[in-house]
Amino acid sequence: MKTLKRSLPGRTLLLKRVATRFRSLSVHVVVPKPLRTFGRHALAALAVLAIAGLAARPAAAEELAKNLFGAKKLPAVAAPQSIGFYSKGCFAGGVAIPLDGPKWEVMRPSRNRRWGHPTMIALIEKLSRDAAADGWPGLLVGDISQPRGGPMLSGHASHQIGLDADIWLTPMPDRKLSLEQRENMSATLLVDEKTHLVKDALWVPAHMRLLKRAASYAEVERILVNPGIKKKLCDTVKGDRAWLRKVRPFWGHDYHFHIRIGCQPGSPNCKAQENTAPGDGCDQSLAWWFTEEPWRPNKNPDRPKARDVMTMASLPAACQAVLDGPDPASAEAVTYYGDGVPVAAAPVLMTAPAPARASASGEAALPASVNAFAATPEIGIPLPRPRPGN
Ligand SMILES: [Zn+2]
Repeated sequence: MKTLKRSLPGRTLLLKRVATRFRSLSVHVVVPKPLRTFGRHALAALAVLAIAGLAARPAAAEELAKNLFGAKKLPAVAAPQSIGFYSKGCFAGGVAIPLDGPKWEVMRPSRNRRWGHPTMIALIEKLSRDAAADGWPGLLVGDISQPRGGPMLSGHASHQIGLDADIWLTPMPDRKLSLEQRENMSATLLVDEKTHLVKDALWVPAHMRLLKRAASYAEVERILVNPGIKKKLCDTVKGDRAWLRKVRPFWGHDYHFHIRIGCQPGSPNCKAQENTAPGDGCDQSLAWWFTEEPWRPNKNPDRPKARDVMTMASLPAACQAVLDGPDPASAEAVTYYGDGVPVAAAPVLMTAPAPARASASGEAALPASVNAFAATPEIGIPLPRPRPGN
C-alpha cells in the first residue's frame, strides 16, 4: 500500500465519537447556572475523562481492533504463530528486525512496524545478503507488521499476520541515514502515473535481479508490484521466466514491492491464500491493467474501510489471547540479529508445508484478478469493482 503520508484517522474518529456523544448528552442535561461559567473547560475536562474511561475499560467487543492492536508496543511472548488471514488476523511470538543491519536500514521507524513472524524477519535478512551479492547495495525496509499484527490505524489492509513485508525499490544509500531522514526521505516513484509504464530512466537491471531473488525463496508465495513493473519484467526477462508467476500486479507498489510468504509450520489457524495460476501472468490479466477500468475513481469513496469497522469480534477468537499475551522484557530481547543468533524460537528457513487451502471468505467480493490473494485468471476481463486495498 502507498503509505508515504501518515495519518491517524482512527484517533480522529474516536475523538469525534466522544465529542458526538457529549453533544447529544448536553441536549438533554440542564446545566446548572454556576457550572455554565465553566463552559468549555468543563466540556474539555469531561471529554478527557471520557477518553480516559474508554482507554481504561477492558477490551470490549465493540472496540475497534485497530485501536487495540495499534496501541501494542511489543509482541506477545509465545511460540510464533500466525492466526487468521493476511487481511484479518494477528500473530504471536513476533520478532523485530534491527533498525540497521550490514545490508539494510528500516524506514519510517516511528511507525513501529518492523515486526514479523521469525521466518519473515529471517527471510528479509537473508534477502539483504543475497541481494548484496547480486549487486544491490542494501535494502530499505518498509512496513512489515505491528508487534502483534492486527489491523493498522493507517495504511495496509494486509500485513496483519506477520507474513507481509514492503521493501523499497530505492537502493540503500552508501551513507547511514539519520532517524530524521528515515522518517522524511521521499521514495522514488518508478512508474509514470499517467501511462502506468515504468520510467525507463530509473529502471535498472538490478531491480529485476532483486525481484527475482525475492521470488526465488520457497517461502515466498507472492510479490506484489505495480502493473507497470510487472509489464517491464514481462517485456524484458529472458531465459527462466517461471518466477514471474509469483510477481503479481497491483495498485500502488510503484516505489516498493511487497513480499508475502505462506503460512508457516506451527500456525494451524493460519488461513492460506489461493494458489497462483500457472504461467508467467504476462497475459490478458495483465493487459486489463492497461485499460481505463482499473483507474476509474472509486464509485464508493465514502464506504468505510475494513479497518474502520473491524472489532475484536471480527477477528479470530485467538486474537484476544494474543492481545492479552505477556510482553517480553524489551524490544531488544525479541530482536533478530540473524547469522545464527536465535531469538524467541529460532527461525529456520525451510520449505513451507502446504496447509489446508481455504478460500478467503472475507475477500469474496473481489474479482480474482484484482484480488491480491487470489489466483490470476488466465483469460477474461473482470467486472469493475471498488478498489481493494492490499
Ligand atoms: Zn505492502
